[in-house]
Amino acid sequence: MLVDMHLHEKTCSSDSFLSLEEIVTIARARGLDAVCITDHDSMGLRDYAAEYSRKVGFPIFVGVEFFSLQGDITAWGIENFPDHRIDAQPFIDQVNAAGGFCVSCHPFRNNKRGLEEHLRKVKGLHGVEVLNGSTDLEANRTALRYCRELGLQAIGASDAHVPENVAKYVTWLPERVDDLTDFLAQLHSCTTKPAIWNGSAYDVVETF
Ligand SMILES: [Zn+2]
Repeated sequence: MLVDMHLHEKTCSSDSFLSLEEIVTIARARGLDAVCITDHDSMGLRDYAAEYSRKVGFPIFVGVEFFSLQGDITAWGIENFPDHRIDAQPFIDQVNAAGGFCVSCHPFRNNKRGLEEHLRKVKGLHGVEVLNGSTDLEANRTALRYCRELGLQAIGASDAHVPENVAKYVTWLPERVDDLTDFLAQLHSCTTKPAIWNGSAYDVVETF
């Protein structure tokens, strides 16, 4: 299964130009099996995404990109999240208490929104975006090094805000799943791999 695990939809991410319809159309054309919507500090699209997903028969998993005091963390499987910025650790603890899954996104991107060295300090993170579509290759390679060192899941994601970037990088999982519960179970039990769009297909990679 291939899934883009970090996308912004314009209704709840004011910096995005993408509609959900556009995201799903592009994802389907690329042969993806699902997409994740992770808006900035919002899960406001949840109800609409559930309805649209049923209507078009394409899995859409809504999480959140929470801007903790130490940097951005994407998370799934939580009902609520803090309405103000808090430290990364209590947020990660909240995700774990709910049985959710959380990922350090673009930890070394040069916009001061990644966890950077905090990656080594926090406990309970599940994954690291080793390929983030809005991050340069060197910073992504640093993320990969930390991911391996810490033994976390390697995640690929576009972090797209415009159509050209949708599904540029994605995550490979062994089984195809349709709902968030099964998605979370698989994320917790399998070994994910990042994948790169090569212009006509995806290359699932160990390194890059
Ligand atoms: Zn983002």
